[in-house]
Amino acid sequence: MASFKCADIGMACGFEVKGAKDAGEVMAIAAAHAKSSHGISSPPPDLVAKLQKAIKA
Ligand SMILES: [Zn+2]
Repeated sequence: MASFKCADIGMACGFEVKGAKDAGEVMAIAAAHAKSSHGISSPPPDLVAKLQKAIKA
């Protein structure tokens, strides 16, 4: 099970991913959230790196 909180990458946002099966699934869910809630359609590499570090697998 993998989890992620938007707040962990410095976003003022209460979004969390819980119970994803692996980091890849978290990334997919977080990417969809970033697009719909933060207007980030293609996250820059530094944001992706932060996100990967913030995922608790
Ligand atoms: Zn968010």
